[in-house]
Amino acid sequence: MIHVSGCIACPHCDVIYRFSAEEMVTRTRCVRCGYQLTLGKSEAITRVVGLALTSTILMGIVLFAPFLYLDAGPFDSSASVVDVVLGFATGIMVPLAFAVLVFIIVVPLARSFLLIYALAPLLAGYGNAVGAQSALRWAFQLKPWAMAEIFMVGVAVALVKLAGMATVDTGAAFWAFVLLVIVNTFQDTFMCRNTLWTSLATNTA
Ligand SMILES: [Zn+2]
Repeated sequence: MIHVSGCIACPHCDVIYRFSAEEMVTRTRCVRCGYQLTLGKSEAITRVVGLALTSTILMGIVLFAPFLYLDAGPFDSSASVVDVVLGFATGIMVPLAFAVLVFIIVVPLARSFLLIYALAPLLAGYGNAVGAQSALRWAFQLKPWAMAEIFMVGVAVALVKLAGMATVDTGAAFWAFVLLVIVNTFQDTFMCRNTLWTSLATNTA
């Protein structure tokens, strides 16, 4: 068994604790301010894998359900999120539109798959998947490139502008996207990286 012990500083009041490998994967709180330093192993992993699965399902809805309905006199149509991103792009803007699709769809999906790949075996009581450590590291490294929330800000601005010209209605994919942004924020805020890494390193199943 690889022994992983180390120090954790409380992010709120700066007390430093030295934890053994066993303590790293249990639920611990700061004795001075009560901040939750580490989640229990099963709770941390269940939460991450559950939220990653939720993100994947929501992304499926985003891709295949209508994103916006437009009704401008004779033109009446529904548009998917891909139509919305690519529809307004011409000439030099086309590569940019594809980049937007990568940042709002491909990267978030890849992160979910990497997290599930790295952590689901732990949840099921199996040994680590091949390259689980690299997968988890990539999931964290890709985080700044997942920009769904920035896209939603852009869509909100566009909706306000379009509202004067056409009747715009939001579709199921729009609301799935809103939920996705909330789920991802929750995922990133409450992810206990320390517990995840220690669990991977000490998995002997
Ligand atoms: Zn504290």
